[in-house]
Amino acid sequence: MVALCSLTVAEALNTTSFVTLPVYTARARTYVAKTESSGLGVFASTDVARGELLFREHPLLVYPQMVPFHSFRPPGEQYPELDDAISKLSATDRQAFFNLANSCPYESSPTKGIIDTNAVHIGLLSGSQAEYAAVCKQLSRVNHSCSPNGHYHFCPSSLSLELRALQPISAHTEVTISYVDPTLPRAARLAALASYAFTCTCPSCSLPESVSPESDARRAFLARTVTDDAALSRWARDPSLPDAMGALADRAYVRACEAEGGLFIEDAWTAPIARLVKACCALEDAPGAREWARRGRELSLAFTGEDGGWAEVERWPERTGWWGLRRRAKEAAATAAL
Ligand SMILES: [Zn+2]
Repeated sequence: MVALCSLTVAEALNTTSFVTLPVYTARARTYVAKTESSGLGVFASTDVARGELLFREHPLLVYPQMVPFHSFRPPGEQYPELDDAISKLSATDRQAFFNLANSCPYESSPTKGIIDTNAVHIGLLSGSQAEYAAVCKQLSRVNHSCSPNGHYHFCPSSLSLELRALQPISAHTEVTISYVDPTLPRAARLAALASYAFTCTCPSCSLPESVSPESDARRAFLARTVTDDAALSRWARDPSLPDAMGALADRAYVRACEAEGGLFIEDAWTAPIARLVKACCALEDAPGAREWARRGRELSLAFTGEDGGWAEVERWPERTGWWGLRRRAKEAAATAAL
């Protein structure tokens, strides 16, 4: 059962205020264990490839982020909508909710303290202008990294959240997600993380002061990608330009992602990886095109749960409109020179 706080959530999800859902019984690929410095965390129980599913679960609670605060009520009872939603959970789920960490000692409502510590943002729901969040049994236990190896997304149709591998994860490695925008500079990330009552010790946050600005600049660069193919198209059709010039900037983009611990940014990664596939196709380099299309398929799966059409390009790069553009441009130039 999922507790939906307020009728607005139910309306947005086009359902009744409390819904009973099938239990996902897929083989567990994660387990919860103690971490060295962040309390409990979630670990991979097996090797997991980029894009693969770690788990899928229904949230315990879905609520609008602007939840009403009833200031006239006594401390501890100022969020009756949230308390009411939690009270309707099964005894087991309610226990699971109250077993989650509460890092908000200043908050008099234990329910609100647990929610503020554990909520994950799920964004707009259809038919609603409000931002929503969820609290989950498993996902809420996943710790933060500014170079996360996991990514979650919400599926409104099944009222579930999926956690997938954003990077290849070895068995018994901790799985992490980013609680904040990872393209922010280090100081801004640490300020945004202060409410979670921990200090991030990820590789980027642990850099010496002297080199931290380089990481900040790279992260800012990762969020800004050129979406059009104009430069690549000019190169593909101009035989006077060297073959090696194709998608040079996009190779630099991937190097920057890898320098930040495999940090590919949602949506921003698509155009550079697509151009790398297109450059290989223009050169009739099938293994290269397949390799970049595989990366695209894995990232698309990690971010959306779907292959986004990359699998077809991986199978048949020769069928794309970019195939052989360089050879044809060179042949046309040679013919024109006769
Ligand atoms: Zn960090």
